[in-house]
Amino acid sequence: MPEQLLSPVMNTYGRFPLTLVEGKGSYVWDEQGTKYLDYSSGIATCNLGHVPAVVEKALQEQLSKLWHCSNLYNIPVQEQLAEILVKNSCGDQVFFCNSGAEANEAALKLARKYAKDNFAKEEPHVITFKNSFHGRTMNTLSATGQEKIHQGFTPLTPGFSFLPYNDEEALTELKTKQPDAVLLELVQGEGGVVPADAAWIKELAAVCKENNILLMVDEIQTGMGRTGTLFAYEQYGIEPDVISLAKGLGSGIPIGAIIAKEHVAKSFSAGTHGSTFGGNPIAATAGLATVTHLTTSNVLEDANKLADYIWAGLTELADQTEDVKQLRGKGLLIGLEVEKPAIDYVNKAREEHNLLIIVAGPNVVRVLPPLTTNKEEADQFLHVMKQLFQ
Ligand SMILES: *Cc1c(COP(=O)(O)O)cnc(C)c1O
Repeated sequence: MPEQLLSPVMNTYGRFPLTLVEGKGSYVWDEQGTKYLDYSSGIATCNLGHVPAVVEKALQEQLSKLWHCSNLYNIPVQEQLAEILVKNSCGDQVFFCNSGAEANEAALKLARKYAKDNFAKEEPHVITFKNSFHGRTMNTLSATGQEKIHQGFTPLTPGFSFLPYNDEEALTELKTKQPDAVLLELVQGEGGVVPADAAWIKELAAVCKENNILLMVDEIQTGMGRTGTLFAYEQYGIEPDVISLAKGLGSGIPIGAIIAKEHVAKSFSAGTHGSTFGGNPIAATAGLATVTHLTTSNVLEDANKLADYIWAGLTELADQTEDVKQLRGKGLLIGLEVEKPAIDYVNKAREEHNLLIIVAGPNVVRVLPPLTTNKEEADQFLHVMKQLFQ
């Protein structure tokens, strides 16, 4: 046997044996020129498809002007992006960073600072939920309600505790525990595509309001139209105090953000938080073009029609096979809980049908079409799914 060469890249990912070199719309191509239908969207990141023209054009213009100037100076495009996010959300002010974990870091720091500023709290406390996923930095992994994410990294940051998701008694516990903030996903993405129960979320929001608990929603995966509205919280009739964003915000250019209500945001006074790259001209340009397109074109309306069509096709499939135990999700964030290992379907889809889909845990197949997909692609996808579950 030839000796295995040591990769110069650390082994933190289980990678599929596939090398993608080009993408356009819903399709990607590998080194050999083989074409794949990408219904994974770089994990809910390329929501406008690959290399969307509106973002490409804006980036090309910015690339020949200014790449970086640091947050020591005014960055007009960053302000424009903040303005459009504020205009389209219940929040008042935005902080920019570079990733999802950093967005949640900012939210968690803000919650602590707010608790100290307003209630002189010595040891602020944040409640998150079982099976959640909030990131891989020390604080965000400590906030994540999954033991496998904690393993090997203890001691965890103190000040977090976990309650069961969609659980009535958790709301009683919330009243008893009186944390300073709760942080939760409205559809648990990595945790198996589990949507929050609408009545439960309304109650949770009411408990937060009555008890001065900050309501922070992690919309890193659910945001940017993924679930049918720009933000998933809009569908629940609640108004979070803090919203974290990343994945779809820059169409694949790294950018993260939190949006907060004014009375909370003001705890981040000058010098309390920062980021070298956060909202730099390139990242903010990608964000501005993305959010502008999402809020001024009919992309969401079209995506919702396609989502209905895909859900109808998958519902029919689920009714015909014992292998799909449950179909769940929201909009174009779709999970199929399966009897057999989910990875087997994912591998077969890629190897035999040139379809890219992913998993969400051991027994959930996760489907994340670009919001710009069309009926022809959806038919191709549904056809492959039928063959996978035959
Ligand atoms: C992906 C994700 C994160 C982490 O984002 P990174 O950019 O990988 O740091 C946090 N929360 C949720 C809900 C996510 O889906």
